[in-house]
Amino acid sequence: MNRITVIPGDGIGKEVINAAMLVLEELSLPFEYVWMEAGDEAYEKYGKALPDETLEECKKSKAVLFGAVGETAADVIVRLRFELETFANIRPAKSYRGVKCLYDNVDIVIVRENTECLYKGLEFEVAEGIAEGIRVITRKGCERIARFAFELAKREGRKRVTALHKANVMKKTCGLFREVCREVAKEYDVEFNDYYIDAACMYLVMDPWRFDVIVTTNMFGDIVSDLAAGLVGGLGLAPSANIGEKYAIFEPVHGSAPDIAGKGIANPSAMILTTAMMLRHFGYLEEAAKVEKALEEVLAEGKTTPDLGGNLKTMEMAQEVVNKLKSY
Ligand code: ATP
Repeated sequence: MNRITVIPGDGIGKEVINAAMLVLEELSLPFEYVWMEAGDEAYEKYGKALPDETLEECKKSKAVLFGAVGETAADVIVRLRFELETFANIRPAKSYRGVKCLYDNVDIVIVRENTECLYKGLEFEVAEGIAEGIRVITRKGCERIARFAFELAKREGRKRVTALHKANVMKKTCGLFREVCREVAKEYDVEFNDYYIDAACMYLVMDPWRFDVIVTTNMFGDIVSDLAAGLVGGLGLAPSANIGEKYAIFEPVHGSAPDIAGKGIANPSAMILTTAMMLRHFGYLEEAAKVEKALEEVLAEGKTTPDLGGNLKTMEMAQEVVNKLKSY
């Protein structure tokens, strides 16, 4: 039995997690779910956004299935990624039939380093009106994320890995990242190139098909993955997985969306695709493919939530996905 900690969190996190559970129940796989609290509401209740019991439970589980949290994201999800040493954040951006988006046939996977860079939180106010932040990049960190990206490309039959950096300005930190990526690339029979992050943003908007797997440092990865999500229909469709040696956290890219929370209209697609990523992680490849296929068909038929122009509620759309699964 695989033990999974389920953290609904705040806002639409609590709504989309129920959609994920509906899909998982339909598959009835050997998972044991332990529900735990974290986020803004947990902070109000316990004075801690990530209560100790929640963190302990996560460390007893093999994976965390996470909805979304609001203002306390830095204390919850960013901290969890560090605590559980999930060094690779995988964020696919794919265009789906039936979903109005800027481009068709986009299929990019962003592999973002998750434990280093400016997001380490080493920020100091050194004098009145002067604040500093430290950007930490290590050879070990670069090597493991570069290797992860190439292994993913190999496993998924993807053609090219592109490293994004700003080595012309941040000569030491980005310089090290680029150097290590180039070294690791030599070990693989996968095409490799690298771009400056600013140029890459332009290419992503003008010609996204030149990208296949992107590997980059923490903050660039965070920004570029939202950009990529914007190319293919928005945050309601963007799943993600945080993978480490021992633990994994699966979460949609979106936040708690206070503007639509409580209305039952959040798009469950990102959460359902996230669930498929979790299934694949545990080796349920066939089930993962079926869930993705079911969602793709539901999207293509326009049976969606209002953000995608449909009129279904969150759980109605999830039920449509389950109905497809039942029909296979
Ligand atoms: P937070 O403070 O929790 O990060 P936010 O509103 O700043 O919340 P997101 O939650 O990521 O950031 O949402 C950004 C925008 O995208 C909002 O307008 C929100 O309504 C929309 N959005 C995000 N996720 C979804 C979803 N699953 N379904 C529909 N709309 C969504």
